[in-house]
Amino acid sequence: MTLNRFNQEKKRNSEVLVIGGGVIGSAIAYYLSCDGMDVMQLEGARQADGASGHAAGMLAAGLEHFSSEELRKWAKRSQQLMGPLIDDLKLHSEVNVAMNDYGFVVPFLEDKYEKFSKIIDPAKQEYLWDKSKLQGEIPCITGKAGGALFYPEEHQLLPAELIKAYIKGAQKKGAAFIDQCSVSRLLLENGRVTGVETNQGIYRADKVVVATGLGSDAFLGSIGIELNTYPVKGEMVALSMNSETLHYTIYTPDVYIVPKPDQEIWIGATSIPYGNDNKVSASALNTLLHKATGWIPDIREASFLRTWAGLRPQTVDGLPYIGAYSEVQGLYLAVGHYRNGILLSAVTGETISRLLSGETEDEIGIRSFSASRIIKERRGIH
Ligand SMILES: Cc1cc2nc3c(=O)[nH]c(=O)nc-3n(C[C@H](O)[C@H](O)[C@H](O)COP(=O)(O)OP(=O)(O)OC[C@H]3O[C@@H](n4cnc5c(N)ncnc54)[C@H](O)[C@@H]3O)c2cc1C
Repeated sequence: MTLNRFNQEKKRNSEVLVIGGGVIGSAIAYYLSCDGMDVMQLEGARQADGASGHAAGMLAAGLEHFSSEELRKWAKRSQQLMGPLIDDLKLHSEVNVAMNDYGFVVPFLEDKYEKFSKIIDPAKQEYLWDKSKLQGEIPCITGKAGGALFYPEEHQLLPAELIKAYIKGAQKKGAAFIDQCSVSRLLLENGRVTGVETNQGIYRADKVVVATGLGSDAFLGSIGIELNTYPVKGEMVALSMNSETLHYTIYTPDVYIVPKPDQEIWIGATSIPYGNDNKVSASALNTLLHKATGWIPDIREASFLRTWAGLRPQTVDGLPYIGAYSEVQGLYLAVGHYRNGILLSAVTGETISRLLSGETEDEIGIRSFSASRIIKERRGIH
C-alpha cells in the first residue's frame, strides 16, 4: 500500500504516535482520529505487509477458540462493533471491504445428526440443518455430509481492504501515515515516553502506541520489555471456481473454505508454531486441497490462483497485551492478536481510544490483557 508522503517532511510532532501499520495499528489510528486526536502512524515496511495482509478475513467470534472467557467476550464485542463500523468506514473511506454476511456453516458426516439434535440448545434448533436443508442451501456440498450447524452471526471480509478503509477513514479525520519508517528505539525522559527514533529520524509524541505484532520485541527490548511473542505460521491457497456456487463460509475443525468476490475461494490454513518464513510447502497445499475437496468436491475443477503464508503473532499465555505499560508513562501496547486480529481490530481500536481518554483497564473490563502483567511475571508476582 503506497501512501502519499506529503506529511513526511513536514510533521515531526503529534499527540499520539502509533507504531505498526497492520490491521491493529490502522484500527487504532482510525478510532483515535475519530475521537479528535492528532495521530501519526509509522510503519516499517508497507501497510498490510505483516500478518494482516495474509489473513482470511473471518470475523468468527462464535466459532473460534479463545484462551479465556474475557477474550471471548471481547471478541463478541468486536463482532458487534463491526456492522456499524463497516457502514461508517464506507461512508468516510469509500472502500468496499466486501463483507460477506451469509454466515458460516459447520458441516458434519452422516451419523452425527442424532448427536447434534440431542445437544443443541432448543432455542437454536433452526440452526441445526438436516441433510436436505444443507443440500438445498449448498448444492455443491459432498453427499457424505449428514447436516450442518449454521452460525448466522459469523461474517467475513477482505482484510487488505479493511486496512485500507481504516487508513483512508483516519486520513479524512486528519491522521498522518508514513511507511518505510522503521522504529529502532523508544525515547524516554524521566520515566516518560517522548518519541521514537527511526530510520527517517526522530518523531516526537507524549503518547506512543505499539502495534508492531511480531516486530515488537526487537525494539522494546532496548528499554527492558520482553513480550516473548512468537510466530504461528499459516499457509493458504486461493482458487477460482467455475461458477458462483458457494456463498456460505465452510468452517470445520481442520479446514475453512472462504468464498470471496469474483468466484474466488480461499482455503486455509495450516498452523505451525515457531514457523518463521513465508514459504508454502507442497505438503501443506496437498493437505488443504485434500480436506477442502472432501467437503466441496467441485473444488477439483477450480483453477489455481495463488498461495501465501503469514505469521500470526501469538503470546505465551494466549492473551493479547492491551493497555498502558505502567513503568513508562505514555506507553501503550496492542500486541499479540494471534489468529483473530482482523476480528479484534475494532474492539482494540475502541479500547485504546477509551484508555487514552482516561478510562481504566478495570472500567473497560480488560484487566487480564494488561500490558503490565509482564512486569509482575518478571518480579514473580501472580
Ligand atoms: C494465514 C492466516 C490467516 C488468518 N486469518 C484470520 C482471520 O480469518 N480472521 C482474523 O481475525 N485473523 C486472522 N489472522 C490473524 C491476523 O492476521 C493477525 O492477528 C493480525 O493481522 C495481527 O495484526 P497486527 O497489526 O498486530 O500485526 P501485523 O499485521 O503483523 O502488523 C504489524 C506491523 O508492524 C510493522 N512493524 C514491525 N516492527 C516495526 C518497527 N520496528 N517499526 C515500524 N513498524 C514495524 C510490521 O511491518 C507490520 O506491518 C490470520 C493470520 C494468518 C497468518
